[in-house]
This record gives sequence, C-alpha cells and structure tokens, in this order.
Amino acid sequence: MRKKVLVLGGNFGGLTAALSVKQALDGDVDVTVVSASDRFLFNPSLIWIPFGKRSATDITFPLEPTFDAHGIEFVHAAATEIAPLSRRVNTTAGTFGYDYLVVATGYRNDMATVPGMRDTDGVHTITTLPDAVEAGEGWRRFLEDPGPVVVAAAQGTGCFGAAYEFLFNAAYQLRKAGLKGRVPLTYVTAEPFLGHFGIGGLPGGERLLKLFCRKEGIQVITGAALAEAAPGRLLLADGDKLDHAYSVIIPPFRGQDVVASTPGLADEKGFVPVRDTYQSIAHPTIYAVGIAAAVTVPWTAAVAVGVPKTGFPTEVQARIAAANIAARIRGERQVRHRSFGDIPAVCIMDAGNNGVMILADRMLPPRRLGLLIPGPQAHAAKIAFEKYFLWKARKGLVRLP
Ligand SMILES: Cc1cc2nc3c(=O)[nH]c(=O)nc-3n(C[C@H](O)[C@H](O)[C@H](O)COP(=O)(O)OP(=O)(O)OC[C@H]3O[C@@H](n4cnc5c(N)ncnc54)[C@H](O)[C@@H]3O)c2cc1C
Repeated sequence: MRKKVLVLGGNFGGLTAALSVKQALDGDVDVTVVSASDRFLFNPSLIWIPFGKRSATDITFPLEPTFDAHGIEFVHAAATEIAPLSRRVNTTAGTFGYDYLVVATGYRNDMATVPGMRDTDGVHTITTLPDAVEAGEGWRRFLEDPGPVVVAAAQGTGCFGAAYEFLFNAAYQLRKAGLKGRVPLTYVTAEPFLGHFGIGGLPGGERLLKLFCRKEGIQVITGAALAEAAPGRLLLADGDKLDHAYSVIIPPFRGQDVVASTPGLADEKGFVPVRDTYQSIAHPTIYAVGIAAAVTVPWTAAVAVGVPKTGFPTEVQARIAAANIAARIRGERQVRHRSFGDIPAVCIMDAGNNGVMILADRMLPPRRLGLLIPGPQAHAAKIAFEKYFLWKARKGLVRLP
C-alpha cells in the first residue's frame, strides 16, 4: 500500500515539504496538500505593497498548476480538526486520512496584544496580504494629510526584519514625497537594543542601525511595550504617548486555531513543539515546519522579544522533515537532524534604495560568525532574490538553494 503524506499549508514550508517528500521517494508516495490559500505568497515583499512598489499578483502565483505538474493533489480548503489517534484531518472540503502529517500552517496575527490595533483609524499592519493592501490605502490617505508616522514592533513579536524594512522604506518614501524632516518618524520596539532582530544581535549591528536611524532622522524607543492604539495616539506601557497620523504595528504571531485546539499538539501560543527531526514531541507521525513549529526563546527580557522564524530556516526544516518521512516510509532510520538554533541565518533587510545583508552561522547564539553588509547591493539582491524565489517555487524546484 502506497503511504499517504498529508501537508497542511502550501506556502514556504508546505510547498517545500510536499515537493521534497515526493521527490525523495521518486514519486512512490501519495502526497496531498490542503491549503487555506490557493496562491503562494512571497511574504517578504509585503513591505513594498503599501508604497505601490508591488501588487498582489506580482508576489503570488496559483498553487494548483505547480502541484499538478509534480503529481501532488492540491485541495483549496482549511483544515478544521486534526485527529492524531485516527490519523485524520477534517477540512472545509472533507476528511483526509494520512500516514504522516506535515503541519505548515504558519501564523495568524495576535492583534489582542495591542488593544485598538484592529479597528483604529490610521493604525495598520502589513503581515498579511489584505493587511498590506489596506495599509497602502491608508498610506495614500496619509500623503494627502501628512502627520507623525510611527512604526512599532510590538511586545512578543519576532518579525523584526519586517518592522525595520517597513521603517526604512517609509523613510525613503517620505524623502521622495518631500516630507523628510517635516513629519516625525518614530520606531518603537520591544527589542532591548537596536539591531537585536530577535536573534540576540550581531557584531556591529546596534551601531549600524543607529547610524541608519540618525541619517534618516528617526526617533528610536527601545525596550517598549504598547498599551493601546487610540485615534491619533499610541499609548506605551510606561505611560508615554506618541502622536501619530499613520502607524504600522508588527504584532506577535500565534499558531492557527486548528493546531492550537488539537489535544497535546501545541504550546500555549498554538505552535507545535518539535524534535530536531521536526517531528511533534507528542505525536510521532506529525511533523511541523516553519512558523507552525515552536522555538524556545533563549532569553528573558523585561519586554517579551520573540524569535524570527524566517524563510530560510523554514525551507531547511521542510527538507529535513521530508527526508525523515521518506526514510521512515522506506523503513529506514530518520536521517536528518538540525535544531532551529543551529540553522544558519541568511536574510536581506531592504531599506528602499539601500539595505543590509545579514549572515550568521547560527540563527541563535552562541555564534562563531555574524556579518552585516550594508549598501545598495542589498536592495538589488532582495529584488533579484524575490524574482528567483518566485520562479523556483512556481517550478517546484525545491532542491535549489
Ligand atoms: C511582512 C513579512 C516580511 C517577511 N520578510 C522576510 C524576509 O525578508 N526574509 C525571510 O526569510 N522571511 C521573511 N518573512 C518570514 C517568512 O514569510 C516566513 O518564514 C514564511 O512565510 C514561513 O512560511 P510557512 O510556510 O511556515 O508559513 P506561512 O507563509 O504563514 O504559510 C502558511 C500557509 O498555511 C495556510 N493555512 C493557514 N491555516 C490553514 C488551515 N487551517 N488549513 C490549511 N492551510 C492553512 C495559509 O493559507 C498559508 O498558505 C517575512 C514575514 C512577514 C509576515
């Protein structure tokens, strides 16, 4: 009997895991992907949507043709219940059985962390496609009636790269609109120091980020928690108030409800605690990769600082999970092990017409190597990488770097 692998989610983690397991077994396995979105989304380019530098079609592609071309069944549906004991998943399009399940359902915004964030005029986020589109409508209204701008990385978030990228892109756009120096631009962050990035910082990072902020005239508040988003005002937990006409807040992420509500599967944030094989600790036939997999934060800070679960580690985890599932299907021992902290950090922080390449031998400290390379080549590299990645993913060439 051919084994069945069911993958929930079709983005970075799900697409890579599904194609990798199919290829590892030379097609001799039934792979089904169930995804709530029928399109792949290149989330790193969401930062450009509000400024009209990208549209939704520029950074997405339909998933079905890619999976079809590789003999994988694609179902556009949301998983609603995971039953680990009977190895079944209920979805909005019926019930699917599995021998091995890969959870790659990513994140949802935890807007409750900042009361008022969801519904207050002038307050936006950019972490999903509809949010980024809405932030763009707000940006165009803002340009007609400008005022103070605030970019905030809320307590508990790990997605600091997106906050910095939006901040520096906003600075660049303000300059282009002739508003530099005419409207205050403030960065409020849970990070204990600039350039912490949720990875503990890298050598020279704080100095470099301070330089960027000084050059752009950005006021910085570190170690801050947001208490409330109110019309025209953001309230900080220490009682400070910031006027704003336009703000973008990066909230913390949570796992999807279907994962959170599966008995024993998830932690209190809805993420799946995993071994270094990406196997669930509670349920050995379930694997979790990408943002859906839990990562233990290796520091305590006065204000909660999460860890960025970025695209590169997501792909690495998905390949490891796929190799291990393939090994088990062949009746072999699991072959691949690598914890999140051991995966190299490879990232580009865009700054409009400039940027910083971020490289480190490990996602989490201790490290032997950590490098920040600033310059306009980083901006060019992000654009080139976006094109390359969308091409690679669309073709299903998941073995490519
Ligand atoms: C604004 C922003 C900027 C970023 N910039 C960068 C960057 O510059 N570099 C970088 O490396 N990383 C970046 N990241 C992080 C990167 O996007 C993530 O690492 C990546 O998206 C993780 O992939 P994933 O597959 O785990 O989750 P996701 O991308 O969240 O995909 C989850 C998928 O699961 C589907 N799904 C959800 N619920 C269900 C359900 N119940 N049933 C079935 N399917 C479901 C969703 O529709 C989605 O398709 C950024 C993220 C954001 C938000």
